[in-house]
Amino acid sequence: MDGSHPNRHPRYDVLFEPVKIGPVTAPNRFYSVPHATGHSPLMPNGSIGMRAMKAEGGWGVVSMQVAEIDPTSDISNLPMERFWDDTDVKSHALMVERVKRHGALTAIELAHTGIRARNMDTGTPVLGPSSMRILKPQNPIQSKAMDKSDIKAFRDSHKRAVLRAKEAGYDIVYVYAAHDAALVWHFLNPIYNQRSDAYGGSFENRLRLLREVLDDTMEAAAGDVAVAVRIPAHDFKSGSPLTYDNEARAVIESLAEVPDLWDVNVASWPRDSGTSRFDDEGHQEKYTSYVKEVTSKPVVGVGRYTSPDAMVRLINTGVFDLIGASRPSIADPFLPNKIKEGRIDDIRECIGCNVCVSSDAYSVPLMCTQNPTISQEWRRGWHPEIIPSAPRADATLIIGSGPAGLECALTLAKAGHEVTIAERASEFGGRVLKESALKGLAAWGRVKDYRLYHLRQMGNVSLYAESEIGAADIAEFAADNIIVATGATWRNDGVGATGFQPVDGFSAQALTPDDIMGGAQITGPVLIYDDDHYYMGNVLAGHLAAQGHEVHLVCPLPSIAEWMGYTLETPRVIEEMIALGVHMHPNTTAISWTASELRVARSDTGQELPVIKAAQLVFVGARHPNDDLLTRLREDEALGGRVTGIGDCLAPGIIQAAVFSGHAEARRLIGGGSELGGFKREAPILFEV
Ligand code: ADP
Ligand code: SF4
Repeated sequence: MDGSHPNRHPRYDVLFEPVKIGPVTAPNRFYSVPHATGHSPLMPNGSIGMRAMKAEGGWGVVSMQVAEIDPTSDISNLPMERFWDDTDVKSHALMVERVKRHGALTAIELAHTGIRARNMDTGTPVLGPSSMRILKPQNPIQSKAMDKSDIKAFRDSHKRAVLRAKEAGYDIVYVYAAHDAALVWHFLNPIYNQRSDAYGGSFENRLRLLREVLDDTMEAAAGDVAVAVRIPAHDFKSGSPLTYDNEARAVIESLAEVPDLWDVNVASWPRDSGTSRFDDEGHQEKYTSYVKEVTSKPVVGVGRYTSPDAMVRLINTGVFDLIGASRPSIADPFLPNKIKEGRIDDIRECIGCNVCVSSDAYSVPLMCTQNPTISQEWRRGWHPEIIPSAPRADATLIIGSGPAGLECALTLAKAGHEVTIAERASEFGGRVLKESALKGLAAWGRVKDYRLYHLRQMGNVSLYAESEIGAADIAEFAADNIIVATGATWRNDGVGATGFQPVDGFSAQALTPDDIMGGAQITGPVLIYDDDHYYMGNVLAGHLAAQGHEVHLVCPLPSIAEWMGYTLETPRVIEEMIALGVHMHPNTTAISWTASELRVARSDTGQELPVIKAAQLVFVGARHPNDDLLTRLREDEALGGRVTGIGDCLAPGIIQAAVFSGHAEARRLIGGGSELGGFKREAPILFEV
């Protein structure tokens, strides 16, 4: 046991005990479980950089994301790992070597995604237990029911993948059965498995394939590497018998002592990666805590744990043996080391927003609201904890204390600048301060809390609230750098994501999110016209409905909260709206607003619909960048090139973008002015044709 660090409270020592996992031993209980990273196999360097950083930060086990075992499991267009044949071993071996340098174990999630695959790259039929549409209803693709030879080929292929994983140097190999996205899980679930042979029908028959693949894997592992099974301990899918009090439990009981490790969660991914708006830390425990009762093998589980006390409780009460994490390890790759060194307040806690998840859907390297350095380890050389010293102790004035201003200030202060933050409002935090007061968004306040906590302790930082800065005030600061972070203001005129012209009657009467968050008094039924399509429209609807208002939520796209499909939240949002009695009007475009009536038309056909009556109109659409000050300062020749803008005052966006912008500008200043957009690119290899 590592009980050596003088600043660590002894109650956290239990987290640093080694854990035996079959033939290997994890150095501590911090387990970075497999998660999507947005890095496709064509981006191995970025992927290696990210995982090596987690190992440096103290994670005892670092896992690879879903790794397709062969071309019959082609889940393109999602950027998953490919582990098809020997050509893939080289980059995996390099990843393993970089992670092991820091003393961590490495795990690979060998996966066949069954009827979650699309095979649009390979062109071969999608394979499943039965002939049916794949689990992407928008895709006109149907699976082939696997025959005996397909099953044999799959088992042989999985075995070969295990041998490749051993060759690459992995310590733990997975049998992937999770997220409603695994072939063996599709065989388990009678909703998908409609076979009448030895692999269908009875529970034992449906279990057969998982049992066989697990036995194959144990045999191929041969005691050289540990074998883990990742499986939901509960399925939320309507009609599924694979629940924690029924067949999911029976599966784990049946195979209890076979693998070396159980990695358990809930299905499907939207419930596994529940956001803080709907699921608290530890939300899966109700469904996963029974697993340790049915097996003597070690168990790892997740639940967006960022609190070391919660982690200790999990171990001491026998819920898990290892603390699984994906999002907490993204938001803070150094979480284990911070606990180890007694720096609990230093933990950059995940806010549970799922912006990271959206990266996967977009096939772009992982982004994070709390950690702007994620995915930038290799491509930009950014370390999440080590900020290089600035060449000079510049005096830097930052105007505005939203996420952009605070992140920029903290990064520059760590680099040695003398930083002054001037904020017009009486409290710091900008939009995060205001938005975190809305229903369901309290955890988002961590974006400001983390940064302010540090800034307030630094001798080279001055924070001034109630300090509005105008162009004439700049001279008194004698600043070497002036960074404008004055944010953006919601428009009330009807200009939004689909409507590029103002809507008649809006600007005279519509309130905006700024008004509501500023405490505007509202009477009567409220109509929210949401031409933003992310969280603000529906969060306000829930917020006002919970206060007792009758609320209409009108939006021009076919579904409300359309963008929240990328954060996996749309179904939960719709559920909440229904529970709160919010009247939803999707596919509805505003024509005009008069005193208490919105004229509307169907967005697709233009056919006019009955008016919607309300006492108060609220518009959620585009925002005006607050760039007047920036423009004036830039025009001032005396200030030369010392003025820059960051965050929403440049280009209004999501909070993650503001944090990233603030961080990038700080790095630019520290680095002496390299290109803001400059980063190393992954290079494809050219073959002779
Ligand atoms: P971002 O998301 O880009 O960080 P925010 O809107 O969250 O932007 O924050 C901008 C902050 O700037 C707000 O807290 C606002 O009060 C403050 N601000 C705007 N204009 C001025 C100004 N002229 N002087 C000082 N503070 C300002
Ligand atoms: Fe957590 Fe949001 Fe970062 Fe994802 S993007 S790790 S949910 S803070």
